[in-house]
Amino acid sequence: MRLVKAEGIVIRSMKMGETSKLVTLFTRELGLLKIIAKGSRSSKSRIGAALEPLTVSRIVYYQKENREIQFLSQAEIVEFFPNLPADLEKWGYASACAELVSRSQIDTEVTPKLYPILLDTIRAMNEPAADARACFGGFQMKLCGVLGLAPNLRRCLNCNSAPPRFMQEIRMQSDAGPTVQIHFDIARGGFMCNNCSPPLEAQQLSGETLRLLADFQSLPAEKLSRCKISPVARREIEAFFRAYFAFHLEEIGGLASLKFVHKIAAPSGK
Ligand SMILES: [Zn+2]
Repeated sequence: MRLVKAEGIVIRSMKMGETSKLVTLFTRELGLLKIIAKGSRSSKSRIGAALEPLTVSRIVYYQKENREIQFLSQAEIVEFFPNLPADLEKWGYASACAELVSRSQIDTEVTPKLYPILLDTIRAMNEPAADARACFGGFQMKLCGVLGLAPNLRRCLNCNSAPPRFMQEIRMQSDAGPTVQIHFDIARGGFMCNNCSPPLEAQQLSGETLRLLADFQSLPAEKLSRCKISPVARREIEAFFRAYFAFHLEEIGGLASLKFVHKIAAPSGK
C-alpha cells in the first residue's frame, strides 16, 4: 500500500450508502480517478465540500494494488467557483465540460494537456459577465485538438488554398452579419473554398460561425468568455459540434448536462 497525492477537478459525486460518496475526479497527475469517500456525507465530515462537483481539490489516498477503486483518506479545497451553482446556465455548460471529459477516452498522454484546458474553462465561466456558451465552444474545440481530431479551419480541404481575400471576405461580412455561406465537410473535418465544389452532405456555416470556430481553437477561455455571438451562429455552432462529435467521437454524444441547459434555455411554455 502506498500513499498517493493528487490534485483534481471533481467531475461527479454520487451518494453511496448512508454516509459515503463515490467521487470521480479528473486529476492533473493520473487522469480520471474513481474513489470512495467513506463517511463524507455525515455531518461530522470536513471533507464533504471538497468533493462537490466542479471543485478543485487536493486529495490523499492509499493505493492498494489489485483494487479497482481506492479509498480516500483526505481532501481539501484548492479552488472553487461560487458563480457556477448560482447560475443554472453556467452550471449546465460547466457540467457539460466535465461530462465530456468523463466520456472521452483519455489516456495519460492527453491528461496533462486537457487538465489546464478544463480548469481555464470553468475558471473563465465563473467570471460574472462570462458567456458560458462561448467558453463551452472553446472547450469542445480544444478537446477535439488534444484528441487529435482538430478540424482544419484555415485552408480549403480540396485545393489547400487559404485565399487571403476569401478569409478577409468572411471576416468583413461576418462583422456585418451572417451572410457568407461556408460549405463544411464534417467527415473530412474542413471547409471548401468558393472555387471548389462542396460535397452534397456539406453543412452550411455562416462566415461568423467559421471565424468563431477558429477563435475557439486559438483563443484562451478567458478571452472567449467575452465573445459576442449572434443567435444564428449560436445555433450553427451547436449543430456543428453535435454533428462533429456524432461522426468522430460517437461515444460522447447526447450529453445529459446539455439537455439540462437546453431545457432551462427554452422559453417557458414551449
Ligand atoms: Zn478550394
